[in-house]
Amino acid sequence: MSLSRFGLSMLLAGLLLAGCAKPPSEFPSFSGTADHAAVTGSILPASRTLAQQPMPERIFAPGNIGGRTLAVSTTTDIILRPREVVLTFDDGPRSGKTEKILATLDDFGARATFLMLGSAAQANPRLAQRVAAAGHTVGSHTFSHVDLSTMSSQAALDEIAQGERAVQVALASGGQTLSPFFRFPYLSQTGFLRTNLLQGNMVVLDVDIDSKDYYKDAPAEIVERTLARLEARGSGVILFHDIHQRTVDLLPLFLAELKERNYSVVRLVPRDTSPFGRDLITAEAPELRKGL
Ligand SMILES: [Zn+2]
Repeated sequence: MSLSRFGLSMLLAGLLLAGCAKPPSEFPSFSGTADHAAVTGSILPASRTLAQQPMPERIFAPGNIGGRTLAVSTTTDIILRPREVVLTFDDGPRSGKTEKILATLDDFGARATFLMLGSAAQANPRLAQRVAAAGHTVGSHTFSHVDLSTMSSQAALDEIAQGERAVQVALASGGQTLSPFFRFPYLSQTGFLRTNLLQGNMVVLDVDIDSKDYYKDAPAEIVERTLARLEARGSGVILFHDIHQRTVDLLPLFLAELKERNYSVVRLVPRDTSPFGRDLITAEAPELRKGL
């Protein structure tokens, strides 16, 4: 295999590994220049050496960085104070990865939100239940991780509903329930879909800081880049994926850095804990609306 062909293979492998990344055709919008500007900017001069340090396993002193619990009923309820973050993990559960993510979160007393794929929850119902049993919030992320903006509106709504059902079924056998949090795969949405979901009392979980942990960067580099974005914003909803080994590897360092910088992790929960068998997708709930 020639070097160039090998390089192309590696690139393709990288694209296939991409979780919530934009579709490959949109990759150029993630310019490396912008990333490097963020990494090498003057925001975090003190931590620049992080990327140059080896990452021994579990040398970080755990500590409680669990913050307040924020009960939300709509997307606009998610208002964070300075030095507050929400941790989100998409695309799981993934056997061999999600368990380790849970262990690290537990070490730091942090509760996160997991936006699960219906297909993954269906394949790993016990693991999905374990996430919820550990006190984390479980939402959905479609059934098969499709780009909803490329589908007909009805097909997209069906895909979302199928994902919700599969996660709910996976949780139900453990006596747990799905929360009405949803994230668009690839962060790719349409006005119609977003409006439909919001009117159906779904909480669309947007992303303030994309860790881009689907890029094949060194864990410390991802930590440094994500911290730089966080410090620039002061707070935010952070996107990770619990399907990558590098995310497993980087999380202890990232949480230790959050602790060092006096951030706290806000736990999101649904405000209305009435049975989730509501008509979220069809958005037809006239009886309920009369009562509001
Ligand atoms: Zn995703």
